Amino acid sequence: MPNSMIASGFLTHATGRERAGSLCKSVRYAWLRVVRRYGWRAMPFFGHRTRHEREWEEVRSSAQDDLVALGDDIRSLDVDIQMPGVADDAKQRYGQALQAYQRASEIFDRAKRPEDLAPVSETLEEGRYAMAYSKALLEGRPPPERRPPCFFDPRHGPSTEDVQWAPPGGSPRPVPACAADAVRIKEGFAPHGRQVTVDGRPTDYWNAPRHYGPWAGGYFNGRRRRPAAGNAHGIGSGGRSGFRRRRPLRR
Ligand SMILES: [Zn+2]
Repeated sequence: MPNSMIASGFLTHATGRERAGSLCKSVRYAWLRVVRRYGWRAMPFFGHRTRHEREWEEVRSSAQDDLVALGDDIRSLDVDIQMPGVADDAKQRYGQALQAYQRASEIFDRAKRPEDLAPVSETLEEGRYAMAYSKALLEGRPPPERRPPCFFDPRHGPSTEDVQWAPPGGSPRPVPACAADAVRIKEGFAPHGRQVTVDGRPTDYWNAPRHYGPWAGGYFNGRRRRPAAGNAHGIGSGGRSGFRRRRPLRR
């Protein structure tokens, strides 16, 4: 019997008292589920989002932007990869990028909390590297080295070198940078840093609070390369430990 029929039968036959009792039970269970998951302080006032909900929406939206960005970049290579005479290696890397994108999308769709976004970023990073590799071959350039992504915005793709960089008010430290950002830093300009939304305001992602940790850290969690600068600039911890941990990077 379909659920709707069960429900309508229930509503027809149950007495008002039974219905009220059952409703109370449902509300109580829903309440307990939220309390168990987030603690008493997170209980919503009706009609308002909890802090956890807002944080989840913010970081989820950043991960979604990353997915869309990689999808768009892969799509823009589509015509070139179909051209006659394209090397098998370039096609193979393109296929890897596409597969990584699809895997990341699936993980993203199942994600329910910030911790679930680390493998999304990790997979997107794999995809972005494979795409950069394929693109280099298509353009007749040497393929990129297997290095961590650009610290300033992992969407810039694999870094090309480590540069000394100091966040505003902080001390210099080596960070992996893409070629364009490396030039900017060396010429004394600010990098093209990734901004995320924190409580509705744009913020440099390296100053973002803890709920951004797994998403940001996932980019620097790769197993096949050394996250050389990871600990030096406070990233790469990922997982449950958080991106910023207790202290912001600038201190
Ligand atoms: Zn960059």
